[in-house]
Amino acid sequence: MDRILVLPGDGIGPEVTREACRVLEVAAERHGRKLVFEEGLIGGASIDAHGTPLADDVVALARECGAVLLGAVGGPKWDDMPVDTRPERGLLRIRKELGLFANLRPATVFPALVGASTLRPEVVDGIDLLVVRELTGGIYFGEPRGRALVEGRREARNTMVYDESEVARIARTAFDAARGRRRHVTHVHKANVLEVSQLWCEVVDEVAGEYPDVELNHQLVDSCAMLLVREPARFDVIVTGNLFGDILSDEAAMITGSLGMLPSASLGEGGVGLYEPVHGSAPDIAGQDRSNPLATILSAAMLLEHSLSAPEAASDVRRAVSQVLAAGHRTADLVLPGQDTATLGCRAMGDRILEALGAS
Ligand code: NAD
Repeated sequence: MDRILVLPGDGIGPEVTREACRVLEVAAERHGRKLVFEEGLIGGASIDAHGTPLADDVVALARECGAVLLGAVGGPKWDDMPVDTRPERGLLRIRKELGLFANLRPATVFPALVGASTLRPEVVDGIDLLVVRELTGGIYFGEPRGRALVEGRREARNTMVYDESEVARIARTAFDAARGRRRHVTHVHKANVLEVSQLWCEVVDEVAGEYPDVELNHQLVDSCAMLLVREPARFDVIVTGNLFGDILSDEAAMITGSLGMLPSASLGEGGVGLYEPVHGSAPDIAGQDRSNPLATILSAAMLLEHSLSAPEAASDVRRAVSQVLAAGHRTADLVLPGQDTATLGCRAMGDRILEALGAS
């Protein structure tokens, strides 16, 4: 029996996680796995109930379960609260408490959605890449940092720092992921100017020695940014530090089209994982059954793969999503302006995925 902690959160979080849990349960059951869902509060829902965006017992439960499926947090109701007590603090705290050092953001174009990208169809066709971003180190956390007044002039500084163990563990995450894919890793860096990047190149090369079956190349971050819009289908796994990964994962995601389709996983030591859609709580459509649950359903597929070691069940879910889209089913966010397509609500899209999984 595998335990999963579900944190629906705010806005559309509860409706999209509900559909993802239905799909998870069926996909796991088809491969002989029984899941037990625990539920907890995070974000605004937790503020309303307990006066804090994340209670200690929820953190403890997350550690016990090892796998967390999260919806989204935030909304106008809590926008005027002080930064330290806002819903987003709950998200930052759970990532920190679980030591989630690796952020995995796949960017895949389902053939039926090739037209939804802002890039030409022939460029977009076949994109299936994964950005593995280091999440807990680098320039966002390095010391010294801060602002000062120096001889009457305002000055500010940040520090980019990594030690070899931080680089080696994220590199291993990337190489492990590549083994389940097309066995190619691109390490993105700026080694022509940054000593930190030179260390990354050395350590990634050393880790590559443990993975003779995976091909590695090093790519400068500026040329990677260009190649991502020119020839995105050439990439398999991209591994990089916090700053470059922040930028490149958004770039890679957006070339695929809709926000409602983008899943993510954040992994920590000891296999603990947190899975969530990239989108927010969409308060403009919350509670109206108009949201797209596919980003959360695809996040659930990542949970099956990374936390439950059930890659076949994960493939079943992705295949079901692909089939449903190929059959022409769309939620409202996937319909381009001017297209005359009937749309499904969140629940009905969940039903179609379950049917495609053979659970009708
Ligand atoms: P958002 O992602 O919530 O919404 C942006 C736009 O995309 C909206 O028009 C929304 O309706 C649409 N959209 C998003 N997800 C969708 C889905 N699954 N199906 C259909 N349409 C979808 O971003 P925002 O409007 O900037 O932020 C709203 C709230 O969410 C804020 O409080 C913000 O702080 C929070 N937020 C939370 C997270 C998170 O929990 N990880 C991430 C981003 C924003």
